[in-house]
Amino acid sequence: MRYDLAIVGSGGAAFAAAITARDAGASVVMVERGTVGGTCVNTGCVPSKALLAAAAARHGAGDQRFPGIATQAGPVDMAALTGGKDELVAGMRASRYTGLAADYGWEIIAGTARFAGGPDAPVLEVRRNDGGATPVEAGQYLVATGAAPWIPPIAGLEQAGYLTSATAMELTELPESMLVIGGNAVGLELAQLFARLGVTVTVAEALDRLAPFDEPEVSAAIEDAFDDEGIGVVTAAAITSVRGDATARSATITTAGGRERALAYGQILVAAGRRPVTAGLNLDGAGVKTGRRGEIITDECQRTANPRIWAAGDVTGGPQFVYVAAAQGSRAAANALAGAGRTVDYAALPRVTFTSPAIASAGLTEAELIRQGVACDCRVLPLSAVPRAIVARDTRGVVKLVAEARTGRVRGVHAVADGAGEMITAASYAIRARMTVAEVAEAWAPYLTMSEGLRLVAQAFSRDVSRLSCCAA
Ligand SMILES: Cc1cc2nc3c(=O)[nH]c(=O)nc-3n(C[C@H](O)[C@H](O)[C@H](O)COP(=O)(O)OP(=O)(O)OC[C@H]3O[C@@H](n4cnc5c(N)ncnc54)[C@H](O)[C@@H]3O)c2cc1C
Repeated sequence: MRYDLAIVGSGGAAFAAAITARDAGASVVMVERGTVGGTCVNTGCVPSKALLAAAAARHGAGDQRFPGIATQAGPVDMAALTGGKDELVAGMRASRYTGLAADYGWEIIAGTARFAGGPDAPVLEVRRNDGGATPVEAGQYLVATGAAPWIPPIAGLEQAGYLTSATAMELTELPESMLVIGGNAVGLELAQLFARLGVTVTVAEALDRLAPFDEPEVSAAIEDAFDDEGIGVVTAAAITSVRGDATARSATITTAGGRERALAYGQILVAAGRRPVTAGLNLDGAGVKTGRRGEIITDECQRTANPRIWAAGDVTGGPQFVYVAAAQGSRAAANALAGAGRTVDYAALPRVTFTSPAIASAGLTEAELIRQGVACDCRVLPLSAVPRAIVARDTRGVVKLVAEARTGRVRGVHAVADGAGEMITAASYAIRARMTVAEVAEAWAPYLTMSEGLRLVAQAFSRDVSRLSCCAA
């Protein structure tokens, strides 16, 4: 059988593409070598947020901030916690992935795909997981093979052994201590997760601050929050070597000025970024071009250098979020099957790191706006000026608003706050709607929600921050 669309991978990008294609009446086949559903549901978003919620519950019990309320954090049964997470993942995989494929009517072949047939007549060769081989022919192809952890070349690391985000979330016993290599989204979330479960954690970041691609005020706020919780932070740090075995490891850390120190850890977790998965696909042979980090190069419509092959999701080297993967996947299918010419608009893309307080942003940073040659008017509001934070007795964090000085147009919002992830959707709408600071300052925001911080930071453009109140309309 010749399909209309053959998809390699079964993650967020692949599923969105398949649903769009089936809605348009096209025949679809999917090839997946691992677990159906890909990273997000199996080893990414879902398990990490499930475990973070559990860790937050334990942390809250042991660090009670309300007078008159006494709670205590007990020991963690990691096997039970991991087992509960696995059950939740299996349920979400069944309802949101395998069940959907059955409902919409497309086949998923369990196996590893590679291109054959050359650029003019591409075909997929599938080595099935059960041993056989199946050729798959289609009018159009979509590569949605995702990304995998990048492991830095550190002397001794392979021999000593290390965890990745996926294997760390499968632990059934907690180590006493852990070194987390990488202080960006995944590293920060997992560092706080294990710290809140009782592990002594240190985060080592190669650049000079945690969350190094966010606003400096955001980095400072999250470093303070980690410090408050007793999570060790080493920045501008190179891990030069690792020694040890499965029971004890020590890492030599070189910090600014060439100072070296060796510290012992029960486990080392590598969270140093994720790189596109393209090895073994024979992309060269199919006439598909890749970039320096292995990412598949596409045009704005997700088309690769081969006009019959499309790519979407983490494999394209763009922002690594499941909703970006899904948006690209559905556009790729519509463009491949109907020449729809649809593109993804990233201008107000919201992003969240699910630490506590969370880091959330949408749009440009101050530095990015200035790099565009636009004069910036920015305001930073401490969370101590947001009533929601005051009554909840958690004023850790900031809200920063980036606006064009000449027009007042809001171009970016960056927040560290409990609930920042909820606030950022409103910020994304404001940026997309091209609202000005004055319009955001006058927009409704329910009193005693964290989203009010957005309105208050906008009001801070014309008022003294310390005097802002619910009545400052
Ligand atoms: C710890 C962690 C937490 C995260 N949290 C969030 C979050 O909270 N929110 C969010 O939006 N994003 C989050 N992400 C990112 C998100 O998971 C990814 O951006 C998203 O899952 C990418 O989807 P994808 O479809 O591009 O690829 P994937 O979901 O990775 O799917 C690719 C699939 O292709 C298969 N494959 C690869 N090569 C072949 C081949 N040759 N043949 C057959 N199959 C193949 C793989 O087995 C895999 O299943 C997180 C990621 C991690 C690691």
